[in-house]
Amino acid sequence: LEKAYSFMIRIRVPGGVATPEQWLETDRLATQFANGTIKLTTRQAFQFHGIIKSNLKRTIAEINQAAMDTIAACGDVNRNVMCNPNPYLSSIHGEVLKISQDISNHLTPQTRAYHEIWLDGEKVESSEDVVEPIYGKTYLPRKFKITVAVPPSNDVDVFANCLSFIAIVESGKLVGFNVSVGGGMGMTHGSEETYPRLADVIGFCTVEQAQDVAEKVVMVQRDYGDRTERKHARLKYTVDDHGPDWFLAKLNEYLGYELGPVRDYVFEDNGDRYGWVEGINGKHNLTLFIQGGRVLDTPTYPMRTGLREIAKIHDGDFRLTANQNLMIANVSPEKRPEIEKLLEQYGMKDSHLQSGLRLNSLACVALPTCGLSLAEAERYLPSLLSELEEVLEEAGLRHDAITIRMTGCPNGCARPYISEIGFVGRSPGCYNVYLGGGFAGQRLSKMYRENFPGEKIKELLAPIIHHYAKERNDGERFGDFCIRAGYVAATEQGKDFHKN
Ligand code: SF4
Repeated sequence: LEKAYSFMIRIRVPGGVATPEQWLETDRLATQFANGTIKLTTRQAFQFHGIIKSNLKRTIAEINQAAMDTIAACGDVNRNVMCNPNPYLSSIHGEVLKISQDISNHLTPQTRAYHEIWLDGEKVESSEDVVEPIYGKTYLPRKFKITVAVPPSNDVDVFANCLSFIAIVESGKLVGFNVSVGGGMGMTHGSEETYPRLADVIGFCTVEQAQDVAEKVVMVQRDYGDRTERKHARLKYTVDDHGPDWFLAKLNEYLGYELGPVRDYVFEDNGDRYGWVEGINGKHNLTLFIQGGRVLDTPTYPMRTGLREIAKIHDGDFRLTANQNLMIANVSPEKRPEIEKLLEQYGMKDSHLQSGLRLNSLACVALPTCGLSLAEAERYLPSLLSELEEVLEEAGLRHDAITIRMTGCPNGCARPYISEIGFVGRSPGCYNVYLGGGFAGQRLSKMYRENFPGEKIKELLAPIIHHYAKERNDGERFGDFCIRAGYVAATEQGKDFHKN
């Protein structure tokens, strides 16, 4: 008898956009093959957990029948390209989403092996037949992540990604993008040679150049990334080892032209805007808060059923955000009352009436489904937030936005090292506690306590929260205050991350 191996499947959702039909199929597959829940990830994808090995091939085939796939959702290639999911916020957002999807398509591996293995496609005769014009025969040294942001929102966390494009709008027109390279979160406990790093903004490209720039950045990493040490293989180490100036010079050489000087931009935050907004097309869009990105039914909150009922009548689409939330998008004015009725019926109408801390929280999957987790995250953060909300109430800070993120291991899937309060699993029930990240994702945090028990976190943070409530300057963010008040030193760059 074989063991009952179970698997996670990550579904690629280009641009984070799914039709109502795709939502219904995802919901059905979650019941039929997974654990009855859908995880919305921090990279605008769906995940199924608990797929039994004997169902793996059939599940992937049925995902493909729903016009979705799992190609490049893992592996040493470019993963999905993240972007603000609402193209109708402005014409700029629409243009930017289209460019993101073009870059994603351009960098999708050409190999037919996926189809051969999972979809009973024609046999690939020999590896010589596979032409990968960008990746070559050996693909990349490690995974590669791209985002596109429209300031002032940094909702995709550009600085935590290998390559990002920051939209530059002048006189109401998209004129191009600042290009940033070398961000990444993952590290290993006890190994100071590994560290999270913020991307460097190295230049500016026009809209027409963006796809070419993405291709050439990937090629520089393909040729110069470290293939001898997997823990040192991400683009962030290539940029750090050689320096951003070297990288820019090498990129210009590959491009055959030079990037322009960096243009001005400002990021104000990295969260989502909840509630209804009307788009430029006259349609309505509702961003729902989804705790930990987990779509499920509980006896008191039948959210998954509610979303299924909405999908049955929805005339627009669903959009996944990089903050694990869900947008019911492109709702026609005629349909909105029906959808509002269902939101009310299934208890989702006021999903965003939460504390500012909870609305700005992220948690990775961790236990029990992620084999790398050292401690709880998604299952534990909600109750920790309830404890901290008691302190916030006392301090009069219930509605203040503070970013807080928890992961079960130092890989950092929920980007914990750039939140104002971060927890990273160290051992069962214990976390490294980080403070001082930038509210807009623009600064790394610093470790405040190591391997600290979860049940004492409220006690640890309460005095700092009260201190902040009493002595903050006008508009001062919690992360900035933690540095000014001396709780932690500011982290200037990745290599300083482990220094106190
Ligand atoms: Fe798993 Fe670690 Fe990623 Fe969390 S951060 S999902 S524990 S790999």
